[in-house]
Amino acid sequence: MKKSISRVYIGLGSNLNNPAKQLETAIATLAKLPDCELISHSSFYSSRPVGPQDQPDFVNAAAQLNTRLYPEKLLEALQLIESEQGRIKKRHWGERSIDLDILLFDSLVIDTPNLTVPHKEISNRDFVLKPLLELNPTLTLPNGTNLQALLQSCPDNQLHLYSGHS
Ligand code: ADP
Ligand code: MG
Repeated sequence: MKKSISRVYIGLGSNLNNPAKQLETAIATLAKLPDCELISHSSFYSSRPVGPQDQPDFVNAAAQLNTRLYPEKLLEALQLIESEQGRIKKRHWGERSIDLDILLFDSLVIDTPNLTVPHKEISNRDFVLKPLLELNPTLTLPNGTNLQALLQSCPDNQLHLYSGHS
């Protein structure tokens, strides 16, 4: 028997090699993943990097998937997309051609060496919260915390709509 369908939110980010194109490519690949259905994706946003400041601005978005994959399998699929799009780890919170994170997986709480869900930085990042809330303004963390409330107290990363994307 197959696993039941889960609702998952994925965070996308890029600041190398035509970031908006990187996001578009990743979204197109997500739409074709087996046992997954891409429901929607947010607008693209531009933000200042949170790590080293001597790197380009990021383009960020969020996507909603329905999936029958288990969380670890979805993570593997995302990591394959990252490597196909030429992601090379340079430095912590540094530049990358594509970063794909599992932000929320139903209302599961997962804490394994490979996977922390909800994503550990979700509360501190306006470039994660804003696209998520665009997809679903009533989203909460598994503990009931309202994402809208988290956005109010989140550090400012000079987030704005990415103008290069139609
Ligand atoms: P970040 O996304 O925080 O900038 P990285 O993408 O470089 O960091 O981190 C990659 C590692 O994070 C992966 O090896 C993966 O196992 C781990 N990880 C833990 N939780 C998650 C998650 N929710 N989504 C994606 N990767 C995760
Ligand atoms: Mg990541």
